[in-house]
Amino acid sequence: MTKINIKSVVKNIINGLFPPRCRGCGVSGEYLCGCCKKYISENMKASIIQEKGELFRARFLGFRDEILGEMVEEAKYYSVRGLFLEIAEVVYLGYFSKMTKESREEVVLVPMPTSRKHIRERGLDHMDMIAREIERLSGGEIRRVRLLSRAKDTVQVGASEKVRRKQAKEAVQINSAIDFGKYKDARVVILDDVWTTGASLTEAGRILKEAGILKVEALAITKNRPRKKPVIRQGEVD
Ligand SMILES: [Zn+2]
Repeated sequence: MTKINIKSVVKNIINGLFPPRCRGCGVSGEYLCGCCKKYISENMKASIIQEKGELFRARFLGFRDEILGEMVEEAKYYSVRGLFLEIAEVVYLGYFSKMTKESREEVVLVPMPTSRKHIRERGLDHMDMIAREIERLSGGEIRRVRLLSRAKDTVQVGASEKVRRKQAKEAVQINSAIDFGKYKDARVVILDDVWTTGASLTEAGRILKEAGILKVEALAITKNRPRKKPVIRQGEVD
């Protein structure tokens, strides 16, 4: 028996009755209108989270409370295919399309494997879908390769940081069906939707390095905003 995702069915019925609205400006017709897509991607900054440890470099593209972050949350919650594809396009336009063709051709994009439980619930593997769409939008210049697979089904939502770290160590493994020698010198970019503590991505990086990949990066689409407010220097308005 096929399991039906009620949330997704309801959402799709609603979308059938009412055409989607732009998540940026509310204009009717698309999940993200051309104007908002252009604005978000042109202003997208690939901020560096860290440059040490298991990951050669970890970047994120926007905060969770911004439009792109809200789209990610909504797409995951309701498993809306169209929203995931818009997210992939914004990531492509805002990040990968700004690289040179030569750089794009070096990239091996590795989707962070999703737990089987979530894939069942959502009826789709959202990170693989996003990576696949980025590959398609790049005209094949970027290669999507599933170097990682899921080891044990753990779900990280709500778990404490300590538990998360432990779970991360058990969650991902290398995909044994792949010849890693082919990707040894590639620029391997692990793609994930949210950077929370970085535990899963760091662990994924460690596993890939152990498997012989020399340069492993992480790219998170969104990240939590820091809890502490930055210190604002006074007296700069004149
Ligand atoms: Zn718009």
